[in-house]
Amino acid sequence: MINKENIKVLKFGGDCLKDSVHILKVVNIILSQKSFPIVVVSAIYGITDLLIDGIKHSKEKEVNVSSTISILTEKHYAIAQDSIVNDSVLQTTIQNIVLLVKKVERLLYGVSYTEEDTGAIRAHITSFGERLAAVILAGVLEDKGVKSNIIETDKIGLVTDEQYENATVDLKEFKVNFKPVAANILNDEAIPILTGFFGNAPGGKITTFGRNGSDYTAAVMAYGFDAPLLEIWKDIDGFMDADPAITPDAEIIDHLSYFEVAELCYFGDRILHPLTIEPIAGLGIPIHIKNIFNPDAKGTVISPDAFVDEFIIKSVAYNPNIAMIRLHGSGIGYKAGIITTVANALSANNINIFAIVSSQTCINLLIEMKDADDSYDILKELKGNIIERIDFQKDIALIAVVGEGVLKRKGIFARVLGAVSDIRINIEMASAGASEVAIYLIIASDDVKDAVNAIHKEFFKK
Ligand code: ASP
Ligand code: MG
Repeated sequence: MINKENIKVLKFGGDCLKDSVHILKVVNIILSQKSFPIVVVSAIYGITDLLIDGIKHSKEKEVNVSSTISILTEKHYAIAQDSIVNDSVLQTTIQNIVLLVKKVERLLYGVSYTEEDTGAIRAHITSFGERLAAVILAGVLEDKGVKSNIIETDKIGLVTDEQYENATVDLKEFKVNFKPVAANILNDEAIPILTGFFGNAPGGKITTFGRNGSDYTAAVMAYGFDAPLLEIWKDIDGFMDADPAITPDAEIIDHLSYFEVAELCYFGDRILHPLTIEPIAGLGIPIHIKNIFNPDAKGTVISPDAFVDEFIIKSVAYNPNIAMIRLHGSGIGYKAGIITTVANALSANNINIFAIVSSQTCINLLIEMKDADDSYDILKELKGNIIERIDFQKDIALIAVVGEGVLKRKGIFARVLGAVSDIRINIEMASAGASEVAIYLIIASDDVKDAVNAIHKEFFKK
């Protein structure tokens, strides 16, 4: 039996599974491990989008099923053919791909005939992206003479709630269910390849964790094994101190705390799924972000300990897809329970509130732009003697200035505000204190690039 001190969870995202060049790098990394690798895979790059679009198009027209299926087949065939040398291994891999694609085809015809695409159906169909990626990786490992074992994560007691496309794992129940599975894995020489992204609801139906959900699966696995380390492999070196698309001199961050990462992921940085830290927080398992094309680089280390950097600020993140709804009323501050009523109305419709800022006469709700119109329609119904007027603003962005110590060190908030107002950008709202590691600003979305660069310059380019 392999000692759990000698294992490591390695997660490879779709960006590491683009083509055979990428997949062969991934296989090299798996094979060069000193510890026993527990591998978690996402779908091949672009496949989840293909499946999501395929569901939509199949519902519209039956002929669209076959176009999705042929792209799905071709992409997986091409990667298998380019990466596997041994003919019989290639044939077996292709047969396994065909079996899975057939199931997707039947499911898509189901969508087409019934014109139904519920969250449960979409979760079921999109889970095939990860199953297909696992088949390819197993084929390439076999081609190198290495045994592996595909473990589909709807069969291991990975029990979630019933939010079919945004599920959360019941960690306690999972731990109990997973014990015998983990023992079997550690008793076997074969390298386990676990499918990321999905689990199942208590009744058995498949649920997914939302986009980027394989990061969360990997963290849940690190928790299930109580692994000493979780490595998340990408095709970039790690977290950056600003988005390089708008800040050309952005740099890699060496070290972040759990809390900093949670803030960065929540506020726009799409490096990790927002729930990644949650399963491992209690165990203090470190995460390393690594680059398959630069495996010796340090990447970003994420650890439980708070680490105050000399510049204090570690990164300037932003989310340009925010809307703000304002509920006005002269008695709002006096009326107990009004925020609960508002929050309940939105959550009953599965709308998530990013943040609430309230004053005596106004409740400001920050929500995702995609939810703006629906939220406005729902909240309009609450207009009456307390809520006198509702308005909303769509073209705004939220900036999060993240770093341990932002609140404790004097003058940081003032420097952030100063950097932005010096370039004459209007700050619609600012908040310090809601999080211990982040300062938030709301500005017009047109100003995002300039504001992020001004803050970045203020803290990193002195
Ligand atoms: N394949 C899923 C997605 O594209 C999950 C993941 O990549 O982590 O969102
Ligand atoms: Mg990802």
